[in-house]
Amino acid sequence: MTEGAARVNRRWRLKKRPAQNVDDDTFELATAEVPELDDGQFLVRVCYLSLAPVMRAYVIDGGVIESPLEIGDTMRGRGVGQVIASKTAALAAGDIVHGPFGWQEYALMDDADAVIRMRHWSGSISAGVGVLGITGMSAYFGLFDKGRPQAGDVVLVSGAVGGVGSVVGQLARIAGAYPVAICGSAEKCEVAVGELGYTAAVNYKTDDVRGRLAELCPDGVDVFFDNVGGDILEAGIATMADNGRIVVCGAISQYLTDGSAPRGPSNYFDIVYRNVSMLGFHVYAYRDRYPEAERRMSEWLRDGRLRALEDRLDGLEQMPAALAGLFRGDNIGKRIVQIAPEPRLADG
Ligand code: NAP
Repeated sequence: MTEGAARVNRRWRLKKRPAQNVDDDTFELATAEVPELDDGQFLVRVCYLSLAPVMRAYVIDGGVIESPLEIGDTMRGRGVGQVIASKTAALAAGDIVHGPFGWQEYALMDDADAVIRMRHWSGSISAGVGVLGITGMSAYFGLFDKGRPQAGDVVLVSGAVGGVGSVVGQLARIAGAYPVAICGSAEKCEVAVGELGYTAAVNYKTDDVRGRLAELCPDGVDVFFDNVGGDILEAGIATMADNGRIVVCGAISQYLTDGSAPRGPSNYFDIVYRNVSMLGFHVYAYRDRYPEAERRMSEWLRDGRLRALEDRLDGLEQMPAALAGLFRGDNIGKRIVQIAPEPRLADG
């Protein structure tokens, strides 16, 4: 059989732009044969796909980060899988790679630089879309490069039990800081404290957030890692200690819009009197340093100081509903979907 021929690829493509959250009409499943490889190309059998809040921005007009998809395009997204055929010297069949494969079973790729070969992991390759993938890189560089926590600091994390947040809390612990969680259910508060090492957790749906933060952090918050924006960002700003750092990672509370800009915090001027810095970052700016983060976090995974908290669903069919669920807070940990059996590896 010629490499790549006669394989049937199933993929989700954009059918209709959603007004709010993605729904049953947003995507449609399509099938097509995988074409033969040209020189320079390689074929990846995708095993796990990542779900991330930013994906909704890909399907509306006026998306902010990457150009919005056209109707009929394969849905954009990251995955991890195994190279099963290669006509580039940069990658060999058997390599485990994560990259922008889209919501599909087979990804025919032109550019070896677009993917990252996994080298240091142990356990499931799902780490490539979680703790050792872009999610973990966001936690690592946002916290250590922008937040710069010191031993003894109070580190407040919103979206604390999601993909990025669940890693940030653990990294803050490793740094000797005291992480405090903000999340959206009693069960998540229990996971935050019981499994992720947070010293305390606030349920923003039932607690008076500002009141609880004042009780839990009487000397203020040194580092606030914000995934959420809106009211929770304002509550965090109001609780900052002198010389604190606010790391703006995301603003999921502001994403279900028609593409209009997120609401800014009304109390932003509070940062002036307390010499607080507010620092944004985009994980892709750190690409050259991913190997450093992968190496260090792999060590922490091996020695048990870090654990991958995954919210794993099964089957390519789940993708649209899995994305919609992020905006309802359905996930505990990094949401991923397994779409093929894990490859057998000689070692890893
Ligand atoms: P995630 O936290 O795993 O999933 C989303 C979570 O957000 C939900 O489980 C829910 O948890 C919370 N949420 C949903 N709607 C909310 C609302 N209206 N108000 C408050 N919380 C809400 O997602 P993730 O992939 O780890 O991403 C977290 C954030 O990081 C996102 O804002 C994302 O855009 C951002 N991000 C930024 C970068 C970067 O380079 N700057 C890179 C990656 C991700 P609760 O039940 O706790 O509400």
